[in-house]
Amino acid sequence: MDETSDGRKRHFTEADARQFDAAHPLAGFRDRFFTPDPDLVYLDGNSLGRLPHATRTLLGDVVDRQWGDRLIRSWNEGWFSATERLGDRLAPLLGAAPGQVVFSDSTSVNLYKLVLAATELQAPRRRLVTDSLNFPSDIYIMQGAAGLRGAQLHLVPPVEGGEFPDEEAIARACDGDTALLVLSHVAFKSGWLYDMQKLTDAAHAAGALVLWDLSHSVGAVPLELDACGVDLAVGCSYKYLNGGPGAPAFLYVSRALQDRLRSPIQGWFGQSDPFAFGLDYEAAPGIRRFTAGTPPLLSLLAVEPGIDLLLEAGMERVREASAALTSFLCDLADERLAPLGFTIASPRDAGKRGSHVTIAHEDGYRIVQALIRRGIIPDFRAPDGIRLGIAPLYTGFLDIWRAVDAMVEIVRGGSHLELPGRGSGVT
Ligand SMILES: *Cc1c(COP(=O)(O)O)cnc(C)c1O
Repeated sequence: MDETSDGRKRHFTEADARQFDAAHPLAGFRDRFFTPDPDLVYLDGNSLGRLPHATRTLLGDVVDRQWGDRLIRSWNEGWFSATERLGDRLAPLLGAAPGQVVFSDSTSVNLYKLVLAATELQAPRRRLVTDSLNFPSDIYIMQGAAGLRGAQLHLVPPVEGGEFPDEEAIARACDGDTALLVLSHVAFKSGWLYDMQKLTDAAHAAGALVLWDLSHSVGAVPLELDACGVDLAVGCSYKYLNGGPGAPAFLYVSRALQDRLRSPIQGWFGQSDPFAFGLDYEAAPGIRRFTAGTPPLLSLLAVEPGIDLLLEAGMERVREASAALTSFLCDLADERLAPLGFTIASPRDAGKRGSHVTIAHEDGYRIVQALIRRGIIPDFRAPDGIRLGIAPLYTGFLDIWRAVDAMVEIVRGGSHLELPGRGSGVT
């Protein structure tokens, strides 16, 4: 083993990976997840998190007892308050005091509700700002909302010739006509971790509100929404929160703004007294006004065990493990993948990236298909990104070792070259 000048060890071996796993402070959490195929190397927890054992047990109770036995009585035995109760459960992971987070709808729908609410409050300001690296669904939603409000959507381009955001340009784009700045906290392709405090301050200095999409950061990096003075946030629960496919999303509205904002979907679940069945809408006080209709209880209740695992692990420990794992991946990529035409498309500074690393290769799509055939599951993000999601509760150093080793073998052997190019399925 030799060491570089910055003290990092090079020429890692599989034995090193096993040794790091043995010393991994979160190692015990891997057994808390259902792993029917123990050899599967799962590196897509940033798209669909694994299934916690506790979720299987809980869903058995929800189906058999709460639905099967208690039937409609369950609404008064916890179902009606579940969106708010689970919001408060999640709140510590967001750095939010109670009463500001609620589960509701999908991330896309929550974004739509909050963008429309914020632009109404901010009239006559007519500009919405985001950057072109934002998740496309977020951009589509903003295009639609801007059209409805007669507002202009301003898309800030990335740094010239690069894949990373230009945070200075984003700050400058917030002007006296800007109603709202919307950003994803961790970029879905590169994994870039935006400076939440700095950009929130920049929006506020211009009189704009700020909305953060936390889909790729909740459960991956520590968050301090209250301390940063964030106005609004949305995020999904099926990625690092391990809530299950299509699990309901959450939204955050700072206490100070709640009574000043109006949800554009005035459904009965956001009504102050839905069971009075009055004919005039009156928004519920507090965060519940941002919900709309009956939540999907089976999916909603299933988000709790995943949240509990992260609370138990503690986000500081999760972040520390994530940085060690993603740095290991970058070191291996430099050593073994760079000579084969791969480049790291994520920030090299662990402090500037979330919990996934994207490695680019011109044959990226076919390499991902070849990996999946070998039981190694990353995902592909066009045009050439092999995205490796690191969920420290269950991703270990050996998983990373195996993925890199397989990429080396695939490209050296050329087995991917026989596979078809990209079709139209889910990648
Ligand atoms: C995953 C993700 C979403 C998903 O939105 P849905 O409405 O759940 O499909 C939205 N925004 C970002 C930034 C994401 O990463």
